[in-house]
Amino acid sequence: MRLESYVQGRWIAPGGDWAGIRSAVTGAVVAEVAGGGLAMGEVLDHARRVGGPALRRLTFHQRAEMLKRLATYLNERRDGLYTLSHQTGATRADNLIDIDGGIGTLFVYASKGRRELPNATFLIDGAVEPLSRGGSFVGRHVMTPRHGCAVHINAFNFPCWGLLEKLAPAILAGVPVVTKPATITSYVAHALVRLIAESGILPDGALQCVVGPTGDLFDHLTGQDVVSFTGSADTAQLLQRHPVIAREAVHFVAERDSLNAAILGPDAGPGSPEFDLYVKEVAKEMTVKAGQKCTAIRRALAPREHVPAVIEALSRRLAGVKIGDPAREDVRMGPVVGLAQRRDVLARVEALKAEAELVFGDPARVAVEGADPEAGAFLPPLLLHCADPLRARQVHALEAFGPVCTVMGYDGLDEAATLANRGEGSLVASLYTHDPAAAADLVFGIGAYHGRLVVLDRDCAREQTGHGSPMPHMVHGGPGRAGGGDELGGVRALHHYMQRTALQGSPAMLSRITGSWIKGAPEAIRPEHPFRCHFEDLEIGRSFHSAERTITLEDIEHFAHFTGDTFYAHMSEEATKGHPFFPGRVAHGYLLLSFAAGLFVDPDPGPVLANYGLDSLRFLKPLQPGEAIRVRLTAKEKAPRNAQYGEVRWDVEIQTAAGETAATYELLTMNAMWGA
Ligand code: NAP
Repeated sequence: MRLESYVQGRWIAPGGDWAGIRSAVTGAVVAEVAGGGLAMGEVLDHARRVGGPALRRLTFHQRAEMLKRLATYLNERRDGLYTLSHQTGATRADNLIDIDGGIGTLFVYASKGRRELPNATFLIDGAVEPLSRGGSFVGRHVMTPRHGCAVHINAFNFPCWGLLEKLAPAILAGVPVVTKPATITSYVAHALVRLIAESGILPDGALQCVVGPTGDLFDHLTGQDVVSFTGSADTAQLLQRHPVIAREAVHFVAERDSLNAAILGPDAGPGSPEFDLYVKEVAKEMTVKAGQKCTAIRRALAPREHVPAVIEALSRRLAGVKIGDPAREDVRMGPVVGLAQRRDVLARVEALKAEAELVFGDPARVAVEGADPEAGAFLPPLLLHCADPLRARQVHALEAFGPVCTVMGYDGLDEAATLANRGEGSLVASLYTHDPAAAADLVFGIGAYHGRLVVLDRDCAREQTGHGSPMPHMVHGGPGRAGGGDELGGVRALHHYMQRTALQGSPAMLSRITGSWIKGAPEAIRPEHPFRCHFEDLEIGRSFHSAERTITLEDIEHFAHFTGDTFYAHMSEEATKGHPFFPGRVAHGYLLLSFAAGLFVDPDPGPVLANYGLDSLRFLKPLQPGEAIRVRLTAKEKAPRNAQYGEVRWDVEIQTAAGETAATYELLTMNAMWGA
């Protein structure tokens, strides 16, 4: 299989000499790559000229729909990827993380795009900021997709997940992607890109794939582009030092090595559920993907007195891990990605041995099921013990990117935190404790050095998603050594691909520009009640001003006894004497809400299908018996949900007869569309 690059809408064979990529399992050549011959300036230009505009024409909902179709398409065709991926050393369980996990990430972004983003081409970020006394000048932040290209440079270990977890937020944000898989596993990413291209789901120019070296690509970057890099710290630094990155202020996201820790709590001695969970998780993280995971546990911290028990339990568990041909169902751990990687891991273990003793595993002797141990890049799990971790340096700094972990003891939680933070910034740490006080000490002791913390105990043991699994909903990244970047984290991930702009102007202007009504902008008041409007016909700013209603003491008494809410402030003049907020007996806030509904509702059957909830409710002025209220209801925003109905967000203000604001909230209704 000779790997071509997918650029400018077609597959192009590179120039230069072909070189073989070898199977991690058999050592046989499984694919060939070559470098050179691609005009990288034109590749970026195609993304910016063709892919970008096509994506930006779509709304978030349309892009989300596209991601969902793509995820479904890939899901039905993933078997071929599985077969190919075994050659990288991945077992079936590893493939679940890489292939199914990648497709799952597309599904999550598709769903978040529909549920959490507007059906618009830009995002509103935060609330309206009043910038003037009279209210005629306000501010709001908006986010629009960058007009450049997202360059994704990926590590070898997750050829599918790595590509898809970066692709999903970029496409959802409206930015085209040039992806560059790591060469050694590029044949899997290449097969994935073939499927994506064949599907025809993404617009032309939305995804291009450069197999092999990136040539002069960095020379052509601009300030509208984003580089998202995953790989070693050395490569990250090399790329970040490229003069164009500094000159053009190219946004650069880096995910690098990490010496992640698992910390056994002081309460979690042998025999406790947390001890078992810890041993299981450390062993799993050492052996999944043969330990070639950026999130794998490299340092297993335990109270010093439990270290012998930890080593004993881990050794027992690791001894039961079947190593061999990853295509076999019974094999739990395949080889590392290649012979060079094995040499690299062993060299790093040698370096670690200056500070730690090898307590489990012999690199020279590994029992391999169904494969040739000489031809494949097999390694046993290797467990080390560092007796003096406070003085050691390498165990906190040197990442052996394979099935390798070092156990180290600590005395007291402060020391545990000090040791964990010696990683100088990690992607993740997991804590195994059933003691919330110990967990809080650790969380606040190590939080600044970690991108993600997983607190595991008996209560979540069955359902927890694992130390090593980044979830698309949660941020993945870490400070310092881990690169200082972050990916995923739900819709936060889109922000890398969008420019935040502070927008200042009049309420009328900003309402029209953003499609979100702001108080102070003109209201459209018509004879027909706005609840008579179908979704399509309802204009933003359409308002209804109600009649007045006076609140009586009988109303308050009735409401109190009817609902059972006899809180003293509604029931007793005496009890409110000297109260900091209430001048005397006051109406229930919920009574005001109910009266407000009674004042603005148009009761007959019509396009308003349901009241869907309230947001941002604030009671601002207590009201006493005898006072009157009235309501303003204004259509603030609209978001279609499907072909039948859409969500309308109404700005509601309950006012006193004198026009003071008594309460504000946003009311959500579902409004029918025509023909539904
Ligand atoms: P790597 O050698 O740094 O390579 C990473 C990527 O950079 C590959 O696609 C590589 O392409 C590319 N690259 C290398 N030199 C380049 C250059 N001069 N210009 C442009 N691209 C260049 O890392 P790796 O061996 O693939 O991955 C293992 C490392 O990644 C480990 O240290 C691991 O901790 C880290 N990692 C981190 C995360 C995370 O999320 N933080 C995730 C996974 C892995 P070629 O393959 O063609 O050289």
